[in-house]
Amino acid sequence: MTALPNDGGVHALLTACRIVSTDPQERARAAVDRSGYVPGSIPDGVVYAESVDDVVQALRLATRHRVSIVPRGAGTGLAGGSSATAGTVVLDVSRMNRILSIDPVEQQAVVQPGVLNADVNAAASQHGLFYAPDPASTAICSIGGNVATNAGGMWCAKYGVTRESVLSLQVVLADGRILKTGRNTIKGVSGYDLNALLIGSEGTLGVVVEATLRLRPKPLHTATVAAYFADAPAAAQAASAIVEARIQPAILEFIDGATLAAVDAMMGTDHSSRGNAFLLAQTDGYGALLEQRVLVEAITPFATSVEQTDDDARAAELVAARRNAIPALQRLGRVSIGDIGVPRNRLAEAVEGLAEISKRTGVKIFVIAHAADGNLHPMVVVGQDESITEGPAKAALGEMFRLARRLGGTLTGEHGIGLLKQEWLEEEVGGLSLDLQHKIKAVFDPLGILNPGKGI
Ligand SMILES: Cc1cc2nc3c(=O)[nH]c(=O)nc-3n(C[C@H](O)[C@H](O)[C@H](O)COP(=O)(O)OP(=O)(O)OC[C@H]3O[C@@H](n4cnc5c(N)ncnc54)[C@H](O)[C@@H]3O)c2cc1C
Repeated sequence: MTALPNDGGVHALLTACRIVSTDPQERARAAVDRSGYVPGSIPDGVVYAESVDDVVQALRLATRHRVSIVPRGAGTGLAGGSSATAGTVVLDVSRMNRILSIDPVEQQAVVQPGVLNADVNAAASQHGLFYAPDPASTAICSIGGNVATNAGGMWCAKYGVTRESVLSLQVVLADGRILKTGRNTIKGVSGYDLNALLIGSEGTLGVVVEATLRLRPKPLHTATVAAYFADAPAAAQAASAIVEARIQPAILEFIDGATLAAVDAMMGTDHSSRGNAFLLAQTDGYGALLEQRVLVEAITPFATSVEQTDDDARAAELVAARRNAIPALQRLGRVSIGDIGVPRNRLAEAVEGLAEISKRTGVKIFVIAHAADGNLHPMVVVGQDESITEGPAKAALGEMFRLARRLGGTLTGEHGIGLLKQEWLEEEVGGLSLDLQHKIKAVFDPLGILNPGKGI
């Protein structure tokens, strides 16, 4: 990371801000996210913001003293986006964690950035509503981080990613000015869409201090299917068959056999005894059972075993298998999490390509995927003392990216570029696009103090 050189500026900032820590343990905690990346040093301090004023003050001081700032939510990112090194100060907004209002008629929630994703859903459900973007990390990640990474999740295939559920934002710019983006109406085309630009900008353009979220009516009915397959390509073919059947499951998740075994080992379940690959599907709404029937017809020719349920408790157990896949693998070693996206009808080719990469590079690749939108998470697991940014793990990540490109896909579906995927970005977006993106960054943050070296 390239922090600005500064002479005493950090000290001046940390002295003037209201709540700060220079405790080495807190700085070390703020140095890392959940990507497994270990930076070579720790930030100079942590500023804890409890209000918009705290953020404004920190950024005004950062501008005055030319201090690099790393915005931080819950620190669950998987791309090194909130990792921080010496010469930078972390601006932690996790204490700004209040739900300010919920309007059940307009179906909107206004929240501070540190509110956890699951807490928004718990509050919305009191009104028969839900917030659709549901990362597997829902219980531990913040809305500000979700906005900054344009996070996705299981329900996104049907309801869209974060960008489709954020109506407006309040953002503090690098110099401390407060920008409002978007609007609180469902439609609106006045001016350029700065709301969409901010979403997914990985803390490089401004610090999100408030978000107005779009809520949706909670489906009254859901129907769940757990299908097991002899191998991963058969499951991927079944997923493509569901897309071809022109139904729209709310959830369609893929887990390969090795990951399933790790989930079983952690949770005491026995999924892996039923097949070497797993598809979890959920249909919802008034036609849930009808759609479930079409879905089962589409996948049965490929499956070895199919379980159907409309029991909420059993459905929750099946969904838990997917939600726990990443923690289950993290018990096996350090995990480098890929996040490639491919056109949905190329899922089977992607799964086969990943198996080839594993064979060629000799690294073990576990695969889970949001099958309905073609977003795969190939995961390389290495020993606790091995690097995920160098050596075989890095080589495998590069190969995965090239595979995605060959299949007409993308480097990252939902985790972002962060620090760890930058070297492949230009190849995907092109030199002209990247040049324009750097110019946009310079308009928002002329001194380059916001999350330098991340995102673009
Ligand atoms: C077990 C596990 C499962 C996961 N599953 C998913 C998944 O299904 N889908 C998915 O999309 N992700 C998933 N993730 C990744 C992660 O949870 C998301 O990227 C999440 O959006 C990060 O939120 P955070 O609050 O932890 O952000 P952080 O890690 O704190 O920050 C992430 C990025 O956002 C920036 N940022 C944070 N807060 C703000 C703010 N208020 N203003 C401006 N910038 C800010 C940071 O600078 C950084 O660049 C998973 C992670 C784990 C550990």
